[in-house]
Amino acid sequence: MSDIADSADARISLDLEFALNNMQRFPAVEPDLHCLFCDEPVGYRELFCDSDCRCDYEKEQKLLKIAGR
Ligand SMILES: [Zn+2]
Repeated sequence: MSDIADSADARISLDLEFALNNMQRFPAVEPDLHCLFCDEPVGYRELFCDSDCRCDYEKEQKLLKIAGR
C-alpha cells in the first residue's frame, strides 16, 4: 500500500516541476491539449505537436514582441 502512496507523491512532484518549468518558459500560456502553433491535438501537458511547431511558435513570439510596440 505504501508503495502506491510513494509513487503518487513522486508523480505529483514531477508534475509540479514540469508545470513550473513550463510556466517559466511560457508564462501566459496554459496547455489546452492543442498545439499552440498549429492547433493539432496533443497529449496531456504537451504544448506542441512537435519540435518544429515549438521553434516556429517561439520565433513568432519573438517577432510579435519586436513588432508589438
Ligand atoms: Zn503543431
